[in-house]
Amino acid sequence: MKRVVVIGGGIAGLATAWSLREQEPKGADFEIVLLERNERFGGNIRTEKTDGFLIEGGPDCFLSEKPWAMELCKRIGLSGKFLPTNDRHRKTFVLSRGRLHVLPEGVILMIPTKILPLATSSLISWPGKLRMAMDLFVPKRTSGGDESLGDFVRRRLGKEALEKIAEPLVAGVHAGDPETMSVRASFPKFVQLEEESGSLIRGMVKRMALAAAHRKGKPGGQSAGRVTMFMTLKDGLSELIDTLASRLEGMDKTILRKGVRAASVDKAGAGYRVTLEGGGSLDADAVIVAAPAWAAASILKGLDAALSEKLLTIPYVSTATVSIAFKKKDVKHPMNGFGFVVPKIEGRRIMAATWTSMKFAGRAPEDSVLIRCFVGGSKNADLVSLDDGEMLGMVREELRDIMGIEAEPVLARVFRWRNSMPQYTIGHEERVAWIDERLNIHTGLHLAGSAYHGIGISDSIRCGEAVAKRVIKELAGNR
Ligand SMILES: Cc1cc2nc3c(=O)[nH]c(=O)nc-3n(C[C@H](O)[C@H](O)[C@H](O)COP(=O)(O)OP(=O)(O)OC[C@H]3O[C@@H](n4cnc5c(N)ncnc54)[C@H](O)[C@@H]3O)c2cc1C
Repeated sequence: MKRVVVIGGGIAGLATAWSLREQEPKGADFEIVLLERNERFGGNIRTEKTDGFLIEGGPDCFLSEKPWAMELCKRIGLSGKFLPTNDRHRKTFVLSRGRLHVLPEGVILMIPTKILPLATSSLISWPGKLRMAMDLFVPKRTSGGDESLGDFVRRRLGKEALEKIAEPLVAGVHAGDPETMSVRASFPKFVQLEEESGSLIRGMVKRMALAAAHRKGKPGGQSAGRVTMFMTLKDGLSELIDTLASRLEGMDKTILRKGVRAASVDKAGAGYRVTLEGGGSLDADAVIVAAPAWAAASILKGLDAALSEKLLTIPYVSTATVSIAFKKKDVKHPMNGFGFVVPKIEGRRIMAATWTSMKFAGRAPEDSVLIRCFVGGSKNADLVSLDDGEMLGMVREELRDIMGIEAEPVLARVFRWRNSMPQYTIGHEERVAWIDERLNIHTGLHLAGSAYHGIGISDSIRCGEAVAKRVIKELAGNR
């Protein structure tokens, strides 16, 4: 019997293992062994329930526009568990000159699509608004090659749009720095819009019209309105992990092992030998390394030093989330939105805050509110090292200054995510193309996860599914 070893039990590793079984042709005979270093599966995905609160330590949702997460949930029986955002409170706020301003309605991924809300916005100055509108006339970039997100946004929408919209949104989502991020790798859609329509605004409006027409044309298309831009699961994202793990554990010839760290992968005959930390090894016909790129670099160092070095050139940043709850009566702020982002120029110590109990139903008891703050990232990585007491003190000071909350919290939870968020910096596509090319000389060896072809949960699932397809093909070839 052949054996496939998957290293890493985050969503990418679990989705790969699941997809291997889903795509397994009749008569194929292979064992899957998935190794997870920690005592729990899920990697960055971690949900905790306590005293009526549901707290997401890492991600809190996935983008519905990228269908792979929702499709996987449906296939494993979680269709009835989808939870859309609470669209009565769809606004996002931006801190500017110490005050929270509404991000103008119609601004989608930092591109304005509606005139009136932008014109009446208190966030952007008049010269800033006019500069954003200039996107309609700024000529396309003629020179090819990669460009930083910062340069791209400055060129198309102006400096103020970068400082007050793009930079804080990107920090809140990717914990990244627009001056080093590759626009091609991080936001390929923007480059496409410019190429296709010569303007981000024109391109986005066109796409929205097409999407609306498509929804109308579909039977039951209007009810697709229940699918909001951000989706999650009623019992939290760990439900996706737990369901995948328990369904896999119930399958024949499928072994999931927790608390086992893969130390190295080396060639052994026509396949590979995976050496385990603390002793023991596993021989495998195919190995999928679904650990962060820096961990993959260490595992593959002995096998291919050049590949290992290249993997180390994908930088990661550290972040922390601090979930903090208050009695509703103690919070005067209306919290009439999904939360706020904080531009770097404001000089604050949090990057963003989600008003979790407003964004999703069932996250806090009726008499309480739950807020989740983001700390660290490319701007303030040092803050991740604060101890829990210092971190909480700092977050409370920030919430007091920004939202006027003086009350004692009823609950607080800190989650640290060290070297957890890959950064697609300028040249990322070339780096990954080199890595993919290099893997061609190691038949049966694959990489999966958020470091390569897309950062969020959905992209990690897509990546795992694509790898599983290649492995099935290889195994069939070997047979
Ligand atoms: C704070 C935070 C918020 C986020 N918010 C969102 C969001 O709202 N929406 C979204 O789509 N994405 C979000 N993301 C990104 C999302 O979490 C990732 O895209 C996704 O979880 C990556 O999954 P992965 O399996 O590639 O990696 P990981 O989750 O890092 O999993 C890798 C696994 O490999 C294991 N491992 C490492 N080395 C070894 C070894 N040697 N042997 C065995 N096992 C090993 C690790 O323990 C880990 O479990 C967020 C990330 C963070 C940190």
